[in-house]
Amino acid sequence: MEKYDLRSMDLAEMTELMGQLRQPAFRAKQLFGWVHEKQAAQIGQMRNLGKALLAQLEAQCQLTALQLERRQCAQDGTEKFLFRLADGNYIECVLMRYRGDLSKQRNTLCISSQVGCAMGCTFCATGQSGFVRNLTAGEILSQVYEVNGLLAAEQDLSIGNVVFMGMGEPLLNLDNVLKSIRLLNDPQGQQIGIRRITVSTCGVVPRLYQLAEEKLDIVLAVSLHAPNDAQRSSVMPVNRQYPLAQLMEACHVYQKRTGKRISFEYALIAGFNDQREHVQQLKQLLKGLDCHLNIIPVNPVANIAQFQRPDRKQVAAFVKALQQAGLKASVREEKGTDIDGACGQLRGKVLKQNGEL
Ligand code: SAH
Ligand code: SF4
Repeated sequence: MEKYDLRSMDLAEMTELMGQLRQPAFRAKQLFGWVHEKQAAQIGQMRNLGKALLAQLEAQCQLTALQLERRQCAQDGTEKFLFRLADGNYIECVLMRYRGDLSKQRNTLCISSQVGCAMGCTFCATGQSGFVRNLTAGEILSQVYEVNGLLAAEQDLSIGNVVFMGMGEPLLNLDNVLKSIRLLNDPQGQQIGIRRITVSTCGVVPRLYQLAEEKLDIVLAVSLHAPNDAQRSSVMPVNRQYPLAQLMEACHVYQKRTGKRISFEYALIAGFNDQREHVQQLKQLLKGLDCHLNIIPVNPVANIAQFQRPDRKQVAAFVKALQQAGLKASVREEKGTDIDGACGQLRGKVLKQNGEL
């Protein structure tokens, strides 16, 4: 019999489990607290559940274990974690420390939703490695739990913001992503503010409509990267299936349903999407939408030499031109460039060293 994964279970499921075990309902609340608030690493730790119940839980359940395989620290305090899953697969997440004013200090964790990614964007290390499998809800939120555990031991701030910008396309694992978001936000769990959770998508249109119906107060980020179909299709295969007109229509509907501003990610690639004409095309494309453009100088990825970042001046000039065209735009602060900040790269390196790639 497959064991229940406690970290993937919400209160309703734990209540059902306790019913099956002929336990009173308050035991489910206690169990929930151990799993999602105290982040117990082992079932044996849950002392107040009583010996008999612990033995039953040990027999029928497990806790998602992520094993920390590597930890790389950049000069700016950004850290990259490579975790090994129970089945031997690897995932990455990146901790970004924002300092400055005390009131603005925060730790943001960029987490993965899949092992690999099927979408094949040509500039992305994860996209180049192909798709392996979806993560469970427990595996998704365990990234936050494990890193919070490390931060607590180091007396650092706990994770305040979570962004689904690691490996994988979150909308293609929507059920588990939504479940992990609700559990991370739960007042009896980690209490991560719902507005401090960002889901980034390459634009899987039908799933955007589905997400709109959830009416969640999360931040939606859409990876745009090019202002017209020809260019976008050349770097993002998803655009051939869901071209820009469909994507923009879905964004308008999303905004109407949720009332939320949408973020667009735009990786600036020298000589490709950084010209004046692109500013005008973006202006046309985003007309009538309340949105913000995050301009990210493209992260050079090993083996993909054709994507170079423009120099600082060019990046600043592009952002200024966007602002003059009436768009809200800013440069995304670069983090951890000396440790291959972009996700997928560390996993790629380790698989290569192990002869698995
Ligand atoms: N699959 C989702 C979320 C994960 S990727 C998506 O595509 O939105 C997170 C972000 O990193 C996306 O905006 C993605 O386009 C961007 N990205 C991937 N490779 C990059 C690179 N080499 N340089 C800059 N941004 C990159
Ligand atoms: Fe997948 Fe996002 Fe990378 Fe594209 S950019 S391959 S959707 S992870």
